[in-house]
Amino acid sequence: SNQQHICIGCGVTIQSENPEEIGYAPASALEKEMIICQRCYRLKHYNEIQDVHLTDDDFLKILHELGNREALIVMIVDIFDFNGSWLPGLHRFVGKNKVVLVGNKLDLLPKSVKHNKLIQWLKHESRELGLRPDEVFLVSAGKGWMMKETAASIDELRNGKDVYVVGCTNVGKSTFINRIIKEVTGEGDVITTSHFPGTTLDMIRIPLDDGRALIDTPGIINHHQMAHFVTKQDLKVITPKKEIKPKVYQLNEGQTLFFGGLARFDYISGGPKRSFVCYLANELTIHRTKTDKAAELYKNHVGEMLTPPGREQMDSFPDLVRQEYMIKEAKTDIVFSGLGWITVNEPGTKVAAYVPRGVQTVLRRSLI
Ligand code: GDP
Repeated sequence: SNQQHICIGCGVTIQSENPEEIGYAPASALEKEMIICQRCYRLKHYNEIQDVHLTDDDFLKILHELGNREALIVMIVDIFDFNGSWLPGLHRFVGKNKVVLVGNKLDLLPKSVKHNKLIQWLKHESRELGLRPDEVFLVSAGKGWMMKETAASIDELRNGKDVYVVGCTNVGKSTFINRIIKEVTGEGDVITTSHFPGTTLDMIRIPLDDGRALIDTPGIINHHQMAHFVTKQDLKVITPKKEIKPKVYQLNEGQTLFFGGLARFDYISGGPKRSFVCYLANELTIHRTKTDKAAELYKNHVGEMLTPPGREQMDSFPDLVRQEYMIKEAKTDIVFSGLGWITVNEPGTKVAAYVPRGVQTVLRRSLI
C-alpha cells in the first residue's frame, strides 16, 4: 500500500528498502499495528544506539539548534583521523555552551605516546581550527578505556544541563554512547525523543537521573574522509584495528612510496638518506620505487600490486592529486586524511603527497 507508516519511537517515516538508511523496518514489520524502526528497536531491546546518516543540510539545522539550547556539547573525534573527523563548523554554533572534546581510539596509538602531551596537542590543534574546548579527554570506547572517568567528568561539567554528543560518522560515537548507556542507565527503558524542528530525525534521549538527558545526534558525513573512496572490504584494510607499528623508511632524494594504490609520497630534496616514519594500518602494503618510474608503475599496477583499490573499482576511483610541501619545522606530520601520516624529523625537506581527488592532505605539528 502507499500508506505512510510512522515509527512510534522517534516519529521517523518508515521505509523497508534500505537497512542503512533512516527509518528502516523490515517489510514484515509493516503488518503490525504499531511500527518501530530498527534503530529504536535496537535501542529499546538491547539498549544499543545504531548509527544513522543525515544530509549536510539536516546537520546544519541541528548545529543551529544546539546554539539555542543550554547544554554541554561533547564532540568526538577519531585521534587516528583527527583532521578527517573534525566538524569544521562546530565552533560557530556552540554559543555560550561549554564544549568537551573526546579523542577516541586511543588504543590505536603506540603505547609510548604520553597522554598529557597528546591532550596538549589536541588543545592546540583545536584552537588552530577555531574551537576552544573546556576539557579534553582521551578514551578508547571500543576497549572501554577511561570511559567511567570521562562519563563522571561529563556529568560534573554539564552542571545540571543536557548533554549533546556530536561527531562525524565512523569516529566511534555509537560505541561511545553504548558504553555510556551501560554506565548511566543499566537496564532502563531508554527510548524517549527530543524534537529538532525541520530535521528528518528526532534525536534520541538517554535520560539522566536529574530529568536531563544525554542526546545522540546523527553522524555527519565528512566528505573528505578516505572512507568514502574505498569499498567496505577495503575500509577494513585501511582502518587500523590495533596499535599501529610505525614503519621507518630511509629514503634518498628521488624515491617514492606507494601506500597500496590509495596514496603516494615523494621525497624530492633535502639531503641524502632521510628517515620518514609512517603511521598507517599495519595491513596496508607499502611499495618503494624511484620517483621517475612512479607514474608508470602506478598506471600499470594500480588495482593489483598497488591495492586497495581493487581492480573492479578502478572505473570509479579518482585520480591521485599531487601536493608539494616544503617542511619548515622539525617534527612535522604529513597527514593523508583517513589513511595515516608520515613524520618528517628534519626541517628543509621537500616532499610531495598524493591522495585521491576529494581527500585532503595537511601538515601539522607532530602528534607523537
Ligand atoms: P559512529 O559512526 O561514529 O557511530 O562509529 P561506530 O561506533 O559505529 O564505530 C566506527 C568504527 O570504529 C567501528 O568499526 C568500531 O568498531 C570502531 N571503533 C569504535 N571505537 C573504537 C575504539 O575505541 N578503538 C578502535 N580501534 N576502534 C573503535
